[in-house]
Amino acid sequence: MRYLAAITTLLLAGLLTAAQPKVVSEFTGRVVGVTDGDTVKVLVGTQSVTVRLEGIDAPETGQAFGTRSKQALSALVFGKTATVQKTGEDRFGRTLGAIIADGVNANAKMVEGGWAWHYKKYSTDAGLAALERQAKDAKRGLWADPNPIAPWDYRASRRAPKVEPASGTGEYWLNTSSGVRHNSTCENFKKTKRGRLSSKTEGRPCGICGG
Ligand SMILES: [Zn+2]
Repeated sequence: MRYLAAITTLLLAGLLTAAQPKVVSEFTGRVVGVTDGDTVKVLVGTQSVTVRLEGIDAPETGQAFGTRSKQALSALVFGKTATVQKTGEDRFGRTLGAIIADGVNANAKMVEGGWAWHYKKYSTDAGLAALERQAKDAKRGLWADPNPIAPWDYRASRRAPKVEPASGTGEYWLNTSSGVRHNSTCENFKKTKRGRLSSKTEGRPCGICGG
């Protein structure tokens, strides 16, 4: 049994290690800016380096808990000399990595405190996954909300194309009796007793379809 337990421990340790991204380089600098709960600016010499915290995703500015998440990261790193363990770059060319200040891994601490999600789409880090579960169970930070909107869902909803009411189709119907113009989504489009196709500027717009 002890042998089995030892094997299990080894396997688990292997899995946990394997899930963590490899550090490609390390540098130290002063944190001179906190953009939001997962992005900071680090001054290295005279160069400002934007660092996107690997493996986590924080609420966006304007999203619920966005400000408090930013404050939480500020409290951990702002104005401090920090070590960045770079693991790569994201598609915007930003440095990806873990940021460590006062011996604290800010990436992990943000998830632990409930101020950021484990970014599962890009990270299989079992440690972050476990910290997120604990934060959720304890209803810490943004988990006080039983149904918080994940930042990736929030961003996707903002990117979704807005449905334009027919104004782009170029087809309008003018009721030649009332002088009211309808667009093609309107139930009155081509359905009035008298009328004709018209331009967008003829008549006055229908109060229901907007003309
Ligand atoms: Zn109408």
